Amino acid sequence: MKHISIKESKNHVGEEVTIGAWVANKRSSGKIAFLQLRDGSAFFQGIVVKSEVGEEVFQLAKGLTQETSILLTGTIQEDSRSKFGYEIVVKEIEIIGESHDYPITPKEHGTEFLMDHRHLWLRSSKQHAIMQIRNEIIRATYDFFNKEGFIKIDPPILTASAAEDSTELFHTEYFDQEAYLSQSGQLYMEAAAMAFGKVFSFGPTFRAEKSKTRRHLIEFWMIEPEMAFMDHEQSLEVQEQYVAYIVQSVLDNCEHALSVLERDTDLLKKYTELPYPRISYDDAVVLLNENGFDDITWGDDFGSPHETFIAKQFDKPVFILNYPKAIKAFYMKPHPEREDVVLCADLIAPEGYGEIIGGSEREVDFDALTQRIKEFGLTEEDYAWYLDLRKYGSVPHSGFGLGLERAVTWICGTEHIRESIPFPRLLNRIYP
Ligand code: ATP
Ligand code: MG
Ligand code: MG
Ligand code: MG
Repeated sequence: MKHISIKESKNHVGEEVTIGAWVANKRSSGKIAFLQLRDGSAFFQGIVVKSEVGEEVFQLAKGLTQETSILLTGTIQEDSRSKFGYEIVVKEIEIIGESHDYPITPKEHGTEFLMDHRHLWLRSSKQHAIMQIRNEIIRATYDFFNKEGFIKIDPPILTASAAEDSTELFHTEYFDQEAYLSQSGQLYMEAAAMAFGKVFSFGPTFRAEKSKTRRHLIEFWMIEPEMAFMDHEQSLEVQEQYVAYIVQSVLDNCEHALSVLERDTDLLKKYTELPYPRISYDDAVVLLNENGFDDITWGDDFGSPHETFIAKQFDKPVFILNYPKAIKAFYMKPHPEREDVVLCADLIAPEGYGEIIGGSEREVDFDALTQRIKEFGLTEEDYAWYLDLRKYGSVPHSGFGLGLERAVTWICGTEHIRESIPFPRLLNRIYP
């Protein structure tokens, strides 16, 4: 008997096949039972007709409990009433693993309960849809950067120096030395760009974020491209093309998942139209002040209400350009006409999803960079290798980091970032 996945059923209409699946739900009358089946590739329905299968198989079907795993044999047919479009008319059922008192029943559960049962919650159709979209974004990322001539480079996860805010570092032992978990692979990616031209990384990132927000995870995945011989303007173009590409890929390949999530695809289509609008940090401050945000003065970093307000003025993701030097990282290059701001941008997602990309042109002058390292209270010796990059054929270069889970949350239109990663690590949670 041909063993297929639910997703493949469209290629086997009229054929007898075997499918391994879990029972997500079940309805039955005296004569017919409808099994909602899940195998990871998709969800669809199994029909068990008493007069066709006989008393024994019918009673077995009627007794199936939620999440019991089974092997079923039957014939695939079209099912025009379901979104999926196919179903299986069951002939035989074999129970593989029983399931009793499955804790996540189709009724409503509180968030903490669901988070405690994340290992089971992942089986729901909503979580399935989110993970499909996450996977598509990852696939499209590799596709885009490979197509554009980038090569993937993996920066280390255990590091000795901190690229970003040192209060958010996770410390660990490294034999008789101290080490940190990576907060960003950027500095290493700069070295890689000097070796390979256009590079990108995709890896886990760790930040001890002390505040609870719906956008911050403790462990998240970041995509960090870095490009030699590229100024910030050119980097902005790569950024918007990349973001439009992943949105388009999800529209093209995740139609079903988007419908499960009830995502407004007209909004998503709008996000594929380039270019994205831009506003300077200076103008953003003025705009905020004019609209009653008196908690912001020039020099402050924006919080989520500010980013949300600015994003609302546009119908696409928006770049906020040229933040004050004092609130950005040491490696960003100052604006050539203005010492007080740097050549950087944050890309803010629409609909209140906040910053999805942070990027900048890098300081490439040896003396200026040494000075910046001192100003930030960092030690030159720790950054000796990084400074070397400015000694041996230094070239203008730019790069950016996109938070995968931020992008997933935004594209899926979900409430909280915790659902965009299989096993979220949060301020008060490292289980399961
Ligand atoms: P935020 O201002 O939201 O705290 P950030 O400016 O600290 O973000 P960057 O250092 O610029 O973040 O990192 C690049 C990208 O990584 C961000 O634009 C965002 O998409 C993502 N990111 C940053 N911190 C987190 C986090 N704690 N959880 C999930 N994604 C994050
Ligand atoms: Mg942050
Ligand atoms: Mg930020
Ligand atoms: Mg940032």
